[in-house]
Amino acid sequence: MLATNSSGVTVVDHPLVRIKLTELRAADTTSAVFRMRLSELATLMAFEVTRSLDAAPHRIRTPLAEHEGARLARPIVLAPILRAGLGMLEGMLKILSDASVAHIGLYRNEETHLPESYYFKAPVHLADADVIVADPMLATGGSATAAICQLKERGARSLRYACLVSCPPGIAHLQKEHPDVPIYTAAIDPELNAQAYIVPGLGDAGDRYFGTVVE
Ligand code: URA
Repeated sequence: MLATNSSGVTVVDHPLVRIKLTELRAADTTSAVFRMRLSELATLMAFEVTRSLDAAPHRIRTPLAEHEGARLARPIVLAPILRAGLGMLEGMLKILSDASVAHIGLYRNEETHLPESYYFKAPVHLADADVIVADPMLATGGSATAAICQLKERGARSLRYACLVSCPPGIAHLQKEHPDVPIYTAAIDPELNAQAYIVPGLGDAGDRYFGTVVE
């Protein structure tokens, strides 16, 4: 897997990631294909996000002999930020099938423009787990920062943030508030527009995934 890492941000630029992300970005990609590609990208991202996890020695017996293998040192918790983060869940669970899931519901208060929590449900073992927060878009960084605050308040100590498209303001915001949380992204786009959409981006990831695009 090709990945470039600079100061806490890993850009996963494997050709398959770039090709699938191009399909995701295209305005004429149907909801059905959008869902499929988002899920496939989440699987590929999970592969890279988990590269730095600690593995513990694990002794097993093959049909022929003893073998010193490996298992994950800590449990994994996947934490999708609702709604669009749910689109990454199935793809990540494909290679992390033993993971537990924390659901984090945040909405943007239209007056204050700040993220407000409407739902939070996480497994109790957050303090012992490697937590992967997932949301396809890292735009202003408001939701990402709030989600990570909630997880830390409940004990999470080892966190990683996985997205597909990010932008410099979102990265800067998240790194300022949570410098301990490494960011994994498939692309860094140049800017945010006045409505806080990433440009060129891919539009509203939740609307496109759930087929709620307003024509
Ligand atoms: N959320 C999205 O779905 N898309 C953006 O461009 C920004 C935030």
